[in-house]
Amino acid sequence: YLQETGLIRRRDAFAWIHMPPDEEKLAQARRRLRYDELFLMQLGLGLRRYRTQHAASATPCLLTDEIDSRIRKRFPFLLTDDQNACIAEIAEDMARTRPMNRLLQGDVGSGKTVVALYAALLAIANRTQAAIMAPTEILASQHFLSIERYLKDSHVRRILITGGLTGKKRHEPLARIKQGEMDIVVGTVALLQKDIEFQNLGLVVIDEQHKFGVHQRAELRKDSAPHCLVMTATPIPRTLAMTAFGDLDVSVIKQLPPGRGEVVTRWVERGNRQRAYEFIRERLRAHKQAYFVYPRISSVEETSKEIAAATDAWKELSEKIFPEFQVALLHGQMPSNEKQRIMAGFRKGTIHVLVSTVVIEVGVDVPNATIMVIEAADRFGLAQLHQLRGRIGRGESKSYCLLFAETDNEAARSRLEVMTKTNDGFEIAEQDLRIRGPGELFSARQHGLPDLKIANIVEDYDLLVVARRHAFHLVSQDPTLAQPEHRGIRRALLAKFGDSLGLADVA
Ligand code: ADP
Ligand code: MG
Repeated sequence: YLQETGLIRRRDAFAWIHMPPDEEKLAQARRRLRYDELFLMQLGLGLRRYRTQHAASATPCLLTDEIDSRIRKRFPFLLTDDQNACIAEIAEDMARTRPMNRLLQGDVGSGKTVVALYAALLAIANRTQAAIMAPTEILASQHFLSIERYLKDSHVRRILITGGLTGKKRHEPLARIKQGEMDIVVGTVALLQKDIEFQNLGLVVIDEQHKFGVHQRAELRKDSAPHCLVMTATPIPRTLAMTAFGDLDVSVIKQLPPGRGEVVTRWVERGNRQRAYEFIRERLRAHKQAYFVYPRISSVEETSKEIAAATDAWKELSEKIFPEFQVALLHGQMPSNEKQRIMAGFRKGTIHVLVSTVVIEVGVDVPNATIMVIEAADRFGLAQLHQLRGRIGRGESKSYCLLFAETDNEAARSRLEVMTKTNDGFEIAEQDLRIRGPGELFSARQHGLPDLKIANIVEDYDLLVVARRHAFHLVSQDPTLAQPEHRGIRRALLAKFGDSLGLADVA
């Protein structure tokens, strides 16, 4: 089927690359080699997908009308069309003995948690347990709280496992989980991966937030085979959906639940800061709440500077700028119970302004918080800015995102401009790819894939699509590459991926 795509033969490509008869033939030769590289990558993904699907079997979870209506009664609203479509796809997957391996993609606030809870309740209705894993404790407890809200007065037994639990407080719930006396277990990825045994784990939900790639996901499922749902709030450009996340099936929530207020984004330079504070003061007087966010500085040493900056800002805001309001500080290195206390205060509205490092990036849901100030906004990436902004606009009133930044850096300026122009996560993801180039966003190794040497997933998108189609077709025909005519391909794969595909043990 190579002719169909106008690709020349590999042998010709090699010959022409070394001694190109003319420009046109050289271009064709290059195209063929780029195709080969993409094909091998897609074949690796296809085989990996085939293996996870066939290596182990999962408990089929059947959805009956009765189960469906019982689950829906838990939600005080009608699900959106997108949520329903995702649930239908998930239910179809979960009905099989082949483990589900699905990515649920949707902007912050689009209602993924609701879909995940639906899946968890479906697993439980089929007498299995569900684990919900988050990258941080704050996010885990946030998930737990929203689950609590929906499950009030239900018989579903649920527990939040935190690192703070020790001794008997820890042993008891772990024993109950092992004996199958807990239905939903929520915790961080590290906790749930490490030392918790389930009696019959039917579903794992992983709120990914871009923390790990395909490789680690495979790790996680090595010896048991629960159905697996990965959630991400960062819209993945189509190219990455086919590469870094290329071994997953994908469901997308595009529409936001009804009744969300508009979010207006403004770039505020130094001269306008005072006016911005006055504007915020007015909103606070009208009983709204505000976030002030300080940038992440990634290296360990810099973490203390980051906290120092947030601490200084907190002092200034609480003493000089908004002395008449409650202003609290939150950062990642505070003791866990202190964090919880502050989050609870903000949720209740006794804290009016929350000053934080990017810890709030994940998992905070306070509809009354309608203002977000992002300090040194030029230092954040687009995806992160968008994610942060998703914390506001959750209620019915209009919300405001104020980007405080002074910069002459061109890339930074275009990021800020993109933010003021659109709220659409997919558009932002594409712009991000355009501004940064794929190299920075897509590190193959980080995702457990071999690095691409000649092909480029953005520029060669059309070839990528073709290569993926061909590779997946081949996997369906010869999933172990046992046929003699595939020996060459198999050798090339082993050279690129090493043992990670388990091809060696098939041989
Ligand atoms: P995500 O996990 O995608 O960030 P959530 O599931 O936390 O989104 O939902 C965000 C908010 O929207 C929550 O307060 C939730 O109760 C609400 N919500 C979710 N789905 C709907 C819906 N179909 N109709 C109305 N509100 C909804
Ligand atoms: Mg959420």
